[in-house]
Amino acid sequence: MKKKLGLRTKKTQKIYDEYRKNLPKGCVLCRTKPVKDFVYWRLIPNHFPYDKIAQKHQILFPKKHKALLSDLSKNELQELYEIQEKTKDFDVSILNFPHQQTIPDHFHIHLIEYKTIK
Ligand SMILES: [Zn+2]
Repeated sequence: MKKKLGLRTKKTQKIYDEYRKNLPKGCVLCRTKPVKDFVYWRLIPNHFPYDKIAQKHQILFPKKHKALLSDLSKNELQELYEIQEKTKDFDVSILNFPHQQTIPDHFHIHLIEYKTIK
């Protein structure tokens, strides 16, 4: 299979690939110390950022352990819309397709602030 370009630098991708070979048991998202808590959502840093494009990369996920977008409750969706509409700290959000996710058991969205040009 051809290797895809992806959004991480070669260096970060290499570290990430190593990490993925030996994924710790349990949910990494649930275990990571949050930088911010909403009512239904939680924000954590991404230790393997999409550093080709990102100067800040955090991960947003529902506090309740749910796998798919279609599993989210009305309240969870409502708060997600509010976060999406109000947050000024990021430039783009990325929702990877399930087949591309390292953590497919827990729905999450990547929030990214673009790098600035020097
Ligand atoms: Zn989890």
